This record gives sequence, structure tokens and C-alpha cells, in this order.
Amino acid sequence: MIKYLPNIYPDELLYSLFCRYNIYSGNITHKMSFNDLYTKRSDVPSQEFVGNLNADIMNILDNIYDIRKICINHTMFQYYARFFSKERKCEALNTIIKGNCDTKNVFSILKRYDIDNYFKYCPLCKKEDIEKYGETYWHRIHQIRNMRICTKHKCKLHSSNIKITGSSYIFYDAQNNTSNNDIVFIDNTKIYNFSKYIEDIFNYDIDFNYDIPIQTILCNVFKNTKYQKGLQRHISKFVDDFTIFYKKIGINNIPTINQINRTLLVGDRFDFNTICLIGYFLNISSYDLVHKVYSKEEIEKENKTHYNKKNTNIKSFS
Ligand SMILES: [Zn+2]
Repeated sequence: MIKYLPNIYPDELLYSLFCRYNIYSGNITHKMSFNDLYTKRSDVPSQEFVGNLNADIMNILDNIYDIRKICINHTMFQYYARFFSKERKCEALNTIIKGNCDTKNVFSILKRYDIDNYFKYCPLCKKEDIEKYGETYWHRIHQIRNMRICTKHKCKLHSSNIKITGSSYIFYDAQNNTSNNDIVFIDNTKIYNFSKYIEDIFNYDIDFNYDIPIQTILCNVFKNTKYQKGLQRHISKFVDDFTIFYKKIGINNIPTINQINRTLLVGDRFDFNTICLIGYFLNISSYDLVHKVYSKEEIEKENKTHYNKKNTNIKSFS
């Protein structure tokens, strides 16, 4: 039985709201809070999504905020589903609303590395949150993979000790699990521009009717670069230059050649990180990466240049 549900803050992860609920509820164990919110004790919900909530909390959230809006604005849905096809986006949203805990079957969730394994936070956002709300919370924007700075304050994000998607579900709130670390300002235009790019892409409203394949957008720009001559694509050279470029600006979570191939050539991978890194390297604006429109004919024409079961006469080069 829900005792009291605090208001959700801007860009707050739903998990973070539940962590604050655990504090305000007066429950003496995490288990009690878990039972207040979830249907099955055996479930291990992902902190990035919703999980199998019980009818009580589901009704409260739906009445106050609309559960659909909670999923879009307070989970990492916009990260994982951003580049899905129209059908897959809708399907994924419906699945997480229904409380599917096995999100790995809905989204392709790649392994996290280094600092991205943990909840990150900005010490100045924390200070501002406390001044404004009396407490801080986990911000979604800071949890994006490869996000290293807070673009609002131009300072380094810190890593907490709290692992994202651990094997158990504990309510680790931001207020008690972050410290007042030193503020390290980052005066580096390249890392700022890249961080702003991924932030903008994450934040654009998701259009459930938009259905331009990301492969079309990327390949239409790729074909006019030095990495493509006619139908021959020099992916190895592209990956070499791409890797050097990102290592230089301090990005460590760089996709493999296989992930790049699957995204660009095969067109069956929709990983946010891989796509943003390719888009930024190809100088595609954040707006175009999410909104660019191509005609049906243009999409088909581009598709025919790729090797797939239908186009057996086309070779892909690496
Ligand atoms: Zn900040």
C-alpha cells in the first residue's frame, strides 16, 4: 500500500522517485518498499525502465502523470528506442508500460564500460537541486553512455558507487549516495560539443509516426565522403579514423567494426551510442539525425546499395 508518493522532478528517473519514496514511506526495509510498488518479489526490475508495478502505484502514476509520459520522460526509453522503426518504437513502449522486466528482449542493451557502469551526477546540479527542492535526485541526462560532462555547468560528471542494472534491486537514492566532490570545470569545446550533441538527440520529443530508417540518413551522408567510391565502402579506414578522432577527445566507449557494419551496412542495429558517434563524425546535425525526411524512392534507392538477401548482386566491402 502506497503511503505517500513524492512529486517527480524534471528529468528524474522513475527509479529515483522510488528511491525517494523508500525514504519518505518510513519503511524500515527495502523489501517493504519493493512490496509497496511491485507485483512479484522475484522480479528484478531495471533501474532504467519501469518494471512490473502493482495496480496501486500504476493507478497513482497514471492518474497524476499518465504512465505513457512517465515511460517517455522519466525512463531511458528515449535512449534505447530513439532510432527504432515506427512499429518497433510503439511495440517497445507498450511492452515497458505492461511492466516487462526482461528489457533485454525489447531493447538491445549493450555492456556498459568504466564510469558508465555507475549512476553519474553533477556536483553543481546537486547543489542547485538542494537549493530548489531540498534534495537531489538521479538525472536521466547524466546517465547517457559517453556523457562525461554536465553541459549546463560545463563541469565533469562524477561517478557514484551505485551500479546501474545490478543483479538486485535496492533503493539507492542520489541524496545519500553522492558526495560533495570537487568541481572540475572542463574547458574543452570538442567534448562540450559532443556532449551537447548526444544530449539534444536524447531530448528531442520522440515522434511515433516518424519512420525514416537511420541507415538511410547515415548512408546518404556517408556516400559523399572519402570513405565511399561508387558502391565501394571503405569501412576499415572509416573505423580507423573514427576511433582516432574519438580517442583524441577522450571518448572511450567506441563501437567495434562489427557494430558499425551492422549499423551502417546491414541496418539491423539501432544502438544510440553507435549511431550518435557515427552521426557526429559525419557532421550530421543533431536535428537531421532525428528528423531528416527522405522519400520512399530515396529510401529504396539507398537500400538497394546494401547487401542483403534481396540484393544478392551487391557486395559490401570492408
Ligand atoms: Zn550540472
